[in-house]
Amino acid sequence: MADLESPDDEAARHREKMQKRKAVQDARVAQATREKGLLMVHTGPGKGKTTAALGMMLRTAGYGLRVGFIQFVKGNWATGEQTALTRFSDLIDHHVMGEGFTWDTQDKERDIAAAVRAWELGRRMLADPQYHLVVLDEINIVLRYGYLDVAEVLAGLNARLPDTHVLVTGRNAKPEIIEAADLVTEFQAVKHPFQAGIKAQRGIDF
Ligand code: ATP
Ligand code: MG
Repeated sequence: MADLESPDDEAARHREKMQKRKAVQDARVAQATREKGLLMVHTGPGKGKTTAALGMMLRTAGYGLRVGFIQFVKGNWATGEQTALTRFSDLIDHHVMGEGFTWDTQDKERDIAAAVRAWELGRRMLADPQYHLVVLDEINIVLRYGYLDVAEVLAGLNARLPDTHVLVTGRNAKPEIIEAADLVTEFQAVKHPFQAGIKAQRGIDF
């Protein structure tokens, strides 16, 4: 007859396995003791870079900590986050600095001027102790177009106050920024409804 394990044996083995796993996890947690303002990057072709940034901002604001949120590339439509964030205006300073997508404006000089103004504001926020988190949304895009100098931006990011967290988003992050970052997440596009002819959806995409 087959040697069937009793439910008690199985529960005991499960407990033992979980105890071992917990010991490993506790040791890892005990080792991670340093505190530091992080340089974080959300990049890659998949959807979710800006929405994940918004989630992090919500989390920070939940502790009553101040957030600076600069959007370097503005879409030509109003977004849900623009309206929702007005409810957190005591904690989240939201600035939409871009002039619209480049392919809409087709005015390079104006786009460059907007990027420079946005970065000036970002740099001021990174030096201002009241900000716990600064989000530079789509700055990777303007860096990729060469509208801002990557060495200059990197120097500004590195010159932030030691406790300030900074998150940069956008496809095609510059290798120099990835190299310098503490946290890099590459968003992968597995499927996107746009490829199936489905238009951008309110509340999901904007
Ligand atoms: P989201 O703002 O939804 O988090 P994102 O920040 O990752 O997206 P962006 O590159 O900033 O993506 O593009 C913004 C817009 O393009 C959003 O409306 C988003 O739904 C759409 N988008 C994102 N990824 C894709 C994709 N792989 N194919 C088509 N459209 C996309
Ligand atoms: Mg985005």
